[in-house]
Amino acid sequence: MMSNLLVTGGAGFIGANFVHYWMEAYPHDKVVVLDALTYAGNRANIALMADAPNFYFCQGNICETGLVERLLQEHKIDTLVHFAAESHVDRSITGPDTFIETNIVGTYSLLKAAKKIWLDGGLNQDRHHFHHVSTDEVFGTLGPNDSAFSEGSSYAPNSPYSASKAASDHLVRAYHQTYGLNVTTSNCSNNYGPYHFPEKLIPLVITNVLQNKPLPIYGDGHQIRDWLYVVDHVHAIDLVIKKGQIGECYNIGGNNEWSNLDVVKFICQRMNDKFANNVQLREKYPQAKKVLLGQSQDLITYVSDRAGHDRRYAVDSRKANFQIGFQQKETFDSGIQKTINWYLSNDAWWKSVKNGSSQEWMPVQLETK
Ligand code: NAD
Repeated sequence: MMSNLLVTGGAGFIGANFVHYWMEAYPHDKVVVLDALTYAGNRANIALMADAPNFYFCQGNICETGLVERLLQEHKIDTLVHFAAESHVDRSITGPDTFIETNIVGTYSLLKAAKKIWLDGGLNQDRHHFHHVSTDEVFGTLGPNDSAFSEGSSYAPNSPYSASKAASDHLVRAYHQTYGLNVTTSNCSNNYGPYHFPEKLIPLVITNVLQNKPLPIYGDGHQIRDWLYVVDHVHAIDLVIKKGQIGECYNIGGNNEWSNLDVVKFICQRMNDKFANNVQLREKYPQAKKVLLGQSQDLITYVSDRAGHDRRYAVDSRKANFQIGFQQKETFDSGIQKTINWYLSNDAWWKSVKNGSSQEWMPVQLETK
């Protein structure tokens, strides 16, 4: 059966990958993107579908409930996939206001609009779905020997970002329990891949190597994260939407724990290898002096640790594996190779992003998510 989707935050990193994936997998569905185009949103991320007759873009804020109601009604939306968020932990430490506004009030605004149009208004009353995209960070931090986060783990967020996401998860749950809205939630670990904003660890390292700039590492670099290739994540979201139980949460992870320092060293190694045998690359990036010598790891620079930095995240995805058939396709090696290749082929994209509003954050700020 065909669907009409409203995708919030569809011009951001994961949202854009989701839109690409969905329009290829379900070419007859209608996809409407609602995105405020904050510093993290980029029209170029969805430029490939701009001319598709079943694609619509609306620049607007999820906090504007009236706008959301109009979009739900005019486009006869049956499925709302909610990515829009302030997503950078460092920014949440220095300026939590927008995190509270977008992540909490914005999610509430979407739920309110969905209830009004779908439940009270009777549009798609029997066939509506609100999918909320969230993070494993709501569960807090793990010790070295703790079991991975499961869906039953207690919420214990430590940053304003993760606290705001935790609050939004609770609101989504409450709208199901109280009003009967058809909701699902996915809590995913760290994503990486194409269109990732270069204030985050993996694209920052790739692009800084190409610019021969320092590779900043927070603290001792031994913080552990679980990494998943973004296309595997959006595929998991598809499975949750199509096969997930209404009212349930699904943890999605890569079963792929790495310390930040090892991730950086691994990328350096792969980039050194790529440059060693590729004349075209060597000619294209004459300024990338260290990688040309096969020594990009020399760019690693330690900077003081982030306040309240979580030590370890790990995600137990067995519920998603067994109940909805989630299996990741990429290994970390294949996903990193694809990601490096994407940044090598999309110079114009990352250079314009780096020259823009994120620039002031580049020299020392480093984000792992
Ligand atoms: P992102 O920062 O790249 O993109 C966020 C998008 O939301 C941007 O396009 C931005 O313009 C838009 N946006 C922000 N505020 C808005 C508002 N008020 N109204 C409308 N649009 C607004 O984020 P991302 O990394 O793609 O993350 C997407 C979602 O996935 C978030 O909810 C995040 O919490 C969650 N998540 C991210 C990761 C990760 O590793 N990146 C992992 C798990 C979960």
